[in-house]
Amino acid sequence: MRVSLLDKFEIVICFFANMLLARLVSRPIILCFHCIEQNIDNLFYQIIGVTSPSKFTKIVKYFRLLGYRFASLDEMLKDQNLKKPTRLAALTFDDGFKNIYQYAYPFLKERKIPFTLFLTTATIDSSELLWLHKLIILLIALPFNVVNLLYSQFYNTSNKSLNIYDVINKIVSNKEKKDILRFINHVTFRIPISNETEKEIANRLYLTVDELLEMREYGLSIQAHGHEHLWLSDLSQTETYKEIYSCFQYITQILRRKPSFYGLAFGVSNPFIKEIISELGLNGIVTSERRLLDKTDDPYCLPRISVKNDNEYIYRFLTRWYLSAIMKKIKSCQFRSFILRHRKRI
Ligand SMILES: [Zn+2]
Repeated sequence: MRVSLLDKFEIVICFFANMLLARLVSRPIILCFHCIEQNIDNLFYQIIGVTSPSKFTKIVKYFRLLGYRFASLDEMLKDQNLKKPTRLAALTFDDGFKNIYQYAYPFLKERKIPFTLFLTTATIDSSELLWLHKLIILLIALPFNVVNLLYSQFYNTSNKSLNIYDVINKIVSNKEKKDILRFINHVTFRIPISNETEKEIANRLYLTVDELLEMREYGLSIQAHGHEHLWLSDLSQTETYKEIYSCFQYITQILRRKPSFYGLAFGVSNPFIKEIISELGLNGIVTSERRLLDKTDDPYCLPRISVKNDNEYIYRFLTRWYLSAIMKKIKSCQFRSFILRHRKRI
């Protein structure tokens, strides 16, 4: 994508303006990464969400430049920290890909930066691919006209204007898990994947218990992201409980420490989650609402800003967010002084 001279100018202005604006606004922020990977052109990583190691280190250094201190979510929420004007930033990673261990961990360890992983527990030490990853790997291995054909045959639809992202989204969000597994079998029939190949890919993709425990020694906090990364909006109360509790139990028993936060898979919620999470004694839920934290935020509905490979997006986003926070403050001050003036007259 070509960036015009005007765009470049705007990015530079935002980059430097944030250094002043961050000091004026001082609100905590939760950042969300998925894969930290050299090969950012790989379609699998792109669909999941990828940041190159160099862009990752750049964004961490940038937040330091803005005066942020990195903290765990527990620290961010304790002692009414949320209510104070603080520049705390939490670095969070979703799912549990090995590339976090390979490319983010060495950098964070060296600088003693705390970080958080929202873990999909079914992937740990697994020799099988998670349904979602198997689905993506199979679909991107096929020519797209075949993908479209399989999709329209299976779901009995003739929508031709879909791209690979749409197809994956529709499969993942619209049907029950048993239908998704039937679809995966349907695709595997076209493109068989042996157990050895699946094991080799899973070993390459996923973290092990040993790697998790090692990272925890150096600042990692392990939190829950569901056992099988299910799309929660279609699940019953019992199914939701099973998905969350299996994950909670795995982290508590195998990784020997209770999680205290839950990260919504796909950013999708349902009416039962909040009650289940508080029943299990967890302190909060992070969503995928893109904004900085506010004084009045409910710990069971915390916003989080997803970072991919486009740092420029973050520079622009921050400027807009800081400016709108300043405008809000000015308006509320004007409103307050107007009321005071009015009262005096009365
Ligand atoms: Zn996820």
